Amino acid sequence: MNATPDFIDKTTWNKVLNYIAASDEAPPYLLVDKDVVRKKVTTIGKNIRNSRVLYAVKANPDIQILQFLNSLGLGFEIASEGELQILASIGVGPERIITSNPIKTLKFLHQAVAYGINYFAYDSIAEVDKLAKYAPGCNVYVRLSVPNEGSEWPLSKKFGVEVDEAGELLLYAKEKGLNPAGITFHVGSQCNNVYNWNTAVEKAKELWEISEQNGIRLTMLDIGGGYPIHYTKNVVDVETIEKKIDKAIAKRFPKEVEIFIEPGRAVVGDAGVFVSTVIGKARRGDERWLYIDVGVFNGLMESIGGIKYEYVVGSRNEPEKWTIAGPSCDSFDVIDRDVELPEPEVGNRILILSSGAYTISYASEFNGFSIPKTILI
Ligand SMILES: *Cc1c(COP(=O)(O)O)cnc(C)c1O
Repeated sequence: MNATPDFIDKTTWNKVLNYIAASDEAPPYLLVDKDVVRKKVTTIGKNIRNSRVLYAVKANPDIQILQFLNSLGLGFEIASEGELQILASIGVGPERIITSNPIKTLKFLHQAVAYGINYFAYDSIAEVDKLAKYAPGCNVYVRLSVPNEGSEWPLSKKFGVEVDEAGELLLYAKEKGLNPAGITFHVGSQCNNVYNWNTAVEKAKELWEISEQNGIRLTMLDIGGGYPIHYTKNVVDVETIEKKIDKAIAKRFPKEVEIFIEPGRAVVGDAGVFVSTVIGKARRGDERWLYIDVGVFNGLMESIGGIKYEYVVGSRNEPEKWTIAGPSCDSFDVIDRDVELPEPEVGNRILILSSGAYTISYASEFNGFSIPKTILI
């Protein structure tokens, strides 16, 4: 593995190779380059005025990563008591935590309120009733449904309401003694379509005006996550996206509006490299199969939703097409097809790039394969 793939940071690549050479840690494991994370944290939010960055913990809740992000001063977006517990254990105060999951379990809600968290998203009457009962007077923000076209991991079907209904929900929250503070949306994860943010901001503006007419003075706009990272294709960079978002907001919203940004994937995704091992090879009909020790169930779940990873092996053979599968006995455990790779030997390392987000957080111990360890480098 001497040639540096051209889309990975050269320093990261050297750090990865040095770690592998020096360590006797047994694969599979996930290496996360702190310097890449730090660089992303410095970039995100920089071009959006009056903004706060709140890391979506579900992307990667590894405690060392959370500690590192905490030391860099980020806030956090959470959805469960497990995520709260881990943040509490590293001393993150409630003023730096929000929860944007529109439907919360009662157990989580009780713990969040007890901890002092005061920002809650919602998109239904039932949730307002719940919040009014268990978190009286809290700040709430309504989840608007926005286009998710061009996002590789769309989220729009599960949550969000249209503008008119959102307007009524803000009114209802006020009636119930809550403080309607703002609006949120999510353009879809790994969003390659910059227009989605424009449309979303326009819709939010419509709602903002309706609320004003209803006598509700909102103060914040939460633009969710969605910033894309490089997997196998080039993507628009964060700076370009944020400049467009900032322009769209500046044109339509009052100067003092507070902007929340909730990136997950973009903070940790391209800082991660899975170190895996080729455990077998087979020819099945015309297909050549490569079996590796990280699969759909212990790290690469997003591959079945369409995320395509970049793989690197050390072989100098001519590239051929492979079907890549994980180690479990389940036929669902097929990671990718038609991947061009020079043939490796069984026992060789295979590296999987841009794998820092939505990998370990999805992993299970299905079939007895353990969840790979995360190591910060
Ligand atoms: C998952 C999630 C995010 C993070 O999305 P990314 O696409 O990883 O940036 C942000 N906000 C909410 C509410 C989410 O559910």
